[in-house]
Amino acid sequence: TKFILVSGGVVSGIGKGVIASSTGLLLKTTGLKVTAIKIDPYMNIDAGTMRPTEHGEVYVLNDGGEVDLDLGNYERYLNVTLSRDNNITTGKIYREVIEKERKGEYLGKTVQIVPHITTAIQDWIERVSKIPVDESGEEPDVCIIELGGTVGDIESAPFVEAMRQFQFRVGASNFALVHVSLVPDMHGEQKTKPTQTTIHCLRGLGLMPDLIACRLLGPTPLHPNTKDKISMFCHVPPAQVVGVHDVSSVYHVPLLLRAQGIVEFMEKRLGLAELRQTTKIC
Ligand code: ADP
Repeated sequence: TKFILVSGGVVSGIGKGVIASSTGLLLKTTGLKVTAIKIDPYMNIDAGTMRPTEHGEVYVLNDGGEVDLDLGNYERYLNVTLSRDNNITTGKIYREVIEKERKGEYLGKTVQIVPHITTAIQDWIERVSKIPVDESGEEPDVCIIELGGTVGDIESAPFVEAMRQFQFRVGASNFALVHVSLVPDMHGEQKTKPTQTTIHCLRGLGLMPDLIACRLLGPTPLHPNTKDKISMFCHVPPAQVVGVHDVSSVYHVPLLLRAQGIVEFMEKRLGLAELRQTTKIC
């Protein structure tokens, strides 16, 4: 399985979910089986007890799982059926580790965030990424992992560290990172500093962005000069900086990303053609 992590910086609610779903949809159109995992770094076990006016509507899955509404995005975009385990929360991970501790499975050891919580996160992701989600009943080729919140938060820190370790567990050629950042427009000037700061933070935590998706709140696309500046200051080639401005329907976002070469980039970066070949031989 190939993993694509979608993280975000600067502010929450900038469209990580839509960019993650769109990336999955584009890969699905190339003939790959795609699944998705949403990570919500809060202590609640699930979204069932959370106030909808604060958190948005609770989405109910076929297995009765009450989860974040982003799972609805994934089911609609990817035409898949997900289970409650496709939504990871801090609460679920801690519960699992604490229950193991009570059963004596760590006997003699001090149970810690690193390595026990971070290992539990990686094991969970690996396990769920293999669960078939469509009528083919086959293991998915690609797993999109959306990390909720913003990188640099205390809440998401164990998950960021787990993902840093995960790059080594699955190998660099099986793991790509898309970081979604905000590019504010100040009276016609697209500002890059928030993006520079969040990429700096990301790198400091050991995660290297393969793609920087720049969200622009408004109808103006990312300016080529802005792209060059982000490329230079964030140490990412210009072709790996993509712009996502406001569009009339979120279902246009996949087209916007495809026009900027994201499919070709992922094909090459993750060796996806190879994957299709192997599937055929098997
Ligand atoms: P996040 O996952 O970062 O919290 P979402 O993907 O849920 O953000 O998006 C937040 C809101 O912004 C949603 O209501 C979504 O419909 C809207 N949105 C996201 N991307 C775009 C876009 N490119 N154009 C217009 N609206 C968008």
